[in-house]
Amino acid sequence: MTPSSADPRRARLARVRDALAAADLDGLLVSSLPSIRWLTGFAGSSGLVLVTARELVLLTDFRYATQVEDEVGTAARVIIVSQSLWTGLWDLLGTLPTVQRVGFESQHVLHRDFQRLLEQGGRRQWRPTLDLLEPLREVKDATEVAAIRRAIGMAETALEATLAQLAPGLTETQVAGRLEAALRDAGSEAFPFPSIVASGPRSALPHARAGDRRLEIGDFVLLDFGAVADGYCSDITRTVVLGRATAEQREVYEIAREANARASAAIRPGMRGADADALAREYIDARGFGDAFGHSLGHGIGLEVHEGPRLARTADGVLPEGAVVTIEPGIYRPGWGGIRIEDDVLLTAGGAEVLTTFRRDLLEIA
Ligand code: ZN
Ligand code: ZN
Repeated sequence: MTPSSADPRRARLARVRDALAAADLDGLLVSSLPSIRWLTGFAGSSGLVLVTARELVLLTDFRYATQVEDEVGTAARVIIVSQSLWTGLWDLLGTLPTVQRVGFESQHVLHRDFQRLLEQGGRRQWRPTLDLLEPLREVKDATEVAAIRRAIGMAETALEATLAQLAPGLTETQVAGRLEAALRDAGSEAFPFPSIVASGPRSALPHARAGDRRLEIGDFVLLDFGAVADGYCSDITRTVVLGRATAEQREVYEIAREANARASAAIRPGMRGADADALAREYIDARGFGDAFGHSLGHGIGLEVHEGPRLARTADGVLPEGAVVTIEPGIYRPGWGGIRIEDDVLLTAGGAEVLTTFRRDLLEIA
């Protein structure tokens, strides 16, 4: 693949170089795999990237020689190392004498590898950077938004197919199996996290895994899952009732649904993550369920299913235009059950576009 000016990786690289200049760095060692993929297209599990004002070099090993050609093409200079990636890095740096102040990603470099930098990295200044690339990755370009939309479409197709199969007597694990088969059928290349299927009282556990509980009539069934398209994740939750909903189930569900709708309608770029969180939390609080919403409102999605920005009480960061975030208020009552309604939302100049289209009213699965 020849990188054209339309290749989004070019614009990403330009933004990284601006950030390097602003941080007074000659280079950046990138070791986080999602960031390597974002910059170069390389989706393998072994790689190091060095970015300088002039160079974008990807080091990987011979197992990826063919894959790297397909995925990276000429978007980066590729070096296939025969020994370790680190040996390859020292050799490369030896050819770049003007690269002296080099940042590394302090939250991704293992202490063992940090020791290597100190011992073998020459007389260069190794400077820890925190969140240098991550804020750039928060702002999605058109290619990324298109991939997330595809991942959402796959998840919604799979949800439709799974709800049609819900029946009393199935275990949560069996439902998760059907859901994941449907995700694969819809084209999902992976699962961003183990799909959550939680039924009855277990739906009150915000991070329940699918277990061996059998579905019963009257249960809330909460499904939280996603699909992956070209590396990009979707993350969706719907909660349904098996059989007829009680008046109380309906009443509490409506509070979660209204909180979701209010947050989706009012969220906009320029807001702090904490202000976005408050959009749903204040309503749930006012309806008397503040203590039952024990997690944050949402998170960014992209190459990782949990990335910036955060929408949480403690999130001071400002939400950028172009971010795709989840809005997932929940109400959990131990012993009774729980409800979460999670959508994926693109922050636009005018406010927000809700990318998830699956219906949000309470479904009673007959
Ligand atoms: Zn989720
Ligand atoms: Zn989520």
